[in-house]
Amino acid sequence: MRIFTTKEEIKTFLTHIKKENKTIGFVPTMGALHDGHLSLIKKAKKKNDIVVVSIFVNPTQFNNQEDLIKYPKTLDNDTKLLKSTNCDVLFFPSVEEIYENNVKSEKFNFDGLEHQMEGKFREGHFDGVGTIVKTFFEIVTPNKAYFGEKDFQQLQIIKKMVEKNQLPVKIKGCPIFREEDGLAMSSRNIRLSKKHREAAPFIYKTLKKANKKFGTENAINVTEWVENQFKKHPLLDLEYFTIADEKSLETIKNKESNKKYRAFIAVFAGEIRLIDNIRLNKN
Ligand code: AMP
Repeated sequence: MRIFTTKEEIKTFLTHIKKENKTIGFVPTMGALHDGHLSLIKKAKKKNDIVVVSIFVNPTQFNNQEDLIKYPKTLDNDTKLLKSTNCDVLFFPSVEEIYENNVKSEKFNFDGLEHQMEGKFREGHFDGVGTIVKTFFEIVTPNKAYFGEKDFQQLQIIKKMVEKNQLPVKIKGCPIFREEDGLAMSSRNIRLSKKHREAAPFIYKTLKKANKKFGTENAINVTEWVENQFKKHPLLDLEYFTIADEKSLETIKNKESNKKYRAFIAVFAGEIRLIDNIRLNKN
């Protein structure tokens, strides 16, 4: 596996790859890799000649400084895992290399997708995401880029950015990888205390029950039911639960037959914020 830390070096290397007419698959991450990340890399390996993974904890997408400072960093283990998946290139730049002396986001218009859910609770988050993904696309020039449905709103926003700017890259969504007890894999899970880690599978259990209820009840009733489940829970604090249209990400009132819906949730387990979502069946 080749490891690059500067834009110039990786660009030079990838220019040669392109000249050989090889395709590039790209998986951007913030490191502290787990099986969820690896599933994206394995998918990319199958469909591209070479796979580039970036590890970069992007400061401009953090609205909470403590979350940024305490974000897990496990580079040695990440490198081992990447080698075990036969990843071809790791791009691991510093903040200075990417932002130079101006750690700021560009402002984006994602046609309103950015104002829903995470956008309401994490100010500036999607400007930060848009800025870094656009920058990385310019450096890596991937044919295909892989994003997890774990961050479903982010996936839709990246698709929107590509569509609006006609960027020459195909965006591939990948299903959520879970622990055996149902907790969605996340780099932040290693920061959970023992009791919060034990409590956290309640999130997905509740999402699955909400999915069942959505077959017979309306979105408002299901939402109230979920809110009540968390009010009763001693360790988990619900930030939001919402049932939204998969495309517009707007909260729905009534079901329509030709639309796809998802339930989205954000929960604090102590000081760790966890997000998850589930595709809903209408009946
Ligand atoms: P992160 O390192 O958290 O920024 O995630 C990097 C990529 O991996 C993003 O596209 C995430 O959506 C994806 N990802 C993170 N966790 C999971 C998971 N449990 N299942 C599938 N994809 C994931």
